Amino acid sequence: MGIFDMFTEEIAIDLGTANTLIIHNNKIVIDQPSIVAIDRLTGKAIAVGTQAKLMQGKTHENIKVVRPLKDGVIADFHASEHMIKEFIKQISEIKGKIVKPALRIVICIPSGITEVERRAVRDSAQKVNAKEVILIYEPMAAAIGAGIDVESPEGNMIVDIGGGTTEIAVIALGGIVVDKSLKLAGDVFTNDISYFIRSQHNLDIGERTAERIKIEIGSALEELDVPLDDISVQGKDLITGKPKEIMVNYKEIFRALDKSIMRIEDAILETLSITPPELATDIYKTGIFLAGGGALLNGLADRIHRKTGLPVFVAEDPLRAVVRGTGIALKNNNKFRFLMK
Ligand code: ADP
Ligand code: MG
Repeated sequence: MGIFDMFTEEIAIDLGTANTLIIHNNKIVIDQPSIVAIDRLTGKAIAVGTQAKLMQGKTHENIKVVRPLKDGVIADFHASEHMIKEFIKQISEIKGKIVKPALRIVICIPSGITEVERRAVRDSAQKVNAKEVILIYEPMAAAIGAGIDVESPEGNMIVDIGGGTTEIAVIALGGIVVDKSLKLAGDVFTNDISYFIRSQHNLDIGERTAERIKIEIGSALEELDVPLDDISVQGKDLITGKPKEIMVNYKEIFRALDKSIMRIEDAILETLSITPPELATDIYKTGIFLAGGGALLNGLADRIHRKTGLPVFVAEDPLRAVVRGTGIALKNNNKFRFLMK
């Protein structure tokens, strides 16, 4: 270890549309929503992550709460830069250092990203005292995190359903052979639920309530092997304007989500159809790996299995698969260097 390396810290970042996770010294040290609260008058960011999420839906006109990466690209440069900076500052082991360490950062980016957007991610990361910024494609990181041997000649399919985007990719020999990015994922599911509750129950619910319904009783199937109990949902009656509580059944939520899930299924089938035959044959054996928060939707893996006839696996702890993979790539820098940009 050289004297310079003593002052170098290595971190792996999954800059997601919904959540940002950071690994430092093999540990997940940041796992927070990708959200920034901004003071409209001064233009300054006043809170990031969990703290900013608490403000969502409750701000007055002088504060706006933004998700800088909402559609999988950096829509708000200033906010995303601030967010990365703040999260790194919050890492206690780095915070405590007397000499501000230089950073070597591996950060994952969506596969469909343009050259300009890629530069924007790199620039944002570079502004935090990074001496080196390495980029890795998200489906590759997800695959490594899901435990797939990405260097094997065998084809593997990974489907990462996040907040803003669903990324579908076929990986073989350390490369992405085909990929497809869809701007339809968890956020759309949440919207589907709000719309459904509004039109079927005349109830106006907030985004956080809709997300809670999705997480608690969201279903990709009309009949689940283990049925879910009804839950109570509070909102505002659209007719009287008064607060009201209703009971909601998982089968209703299935109906709310059905169309959007169908679009993800179609995208998977399309990706399979443009996959070279040898690799497509492999996937009949190796199956499809699901990652990202959307993989947790009840019955989804089963539904995709029925639709495609392929084995479908949910990566262990799917919300953390990408950061885990990014961390593994960082740690095995030499082995995986060829995968990184
Ligand atoms: P990103 O990588 O885009 O930041 P994540 O992989 O962190 O996204 O996934 C976030 C999405 O997963 C959100 O839309 C969230 O509502 C959804 N999600 C989290 N847990 C569940 C669950 N148990 N069931 C369904 N969706 C979930
Ligand atoms: Mg993600």
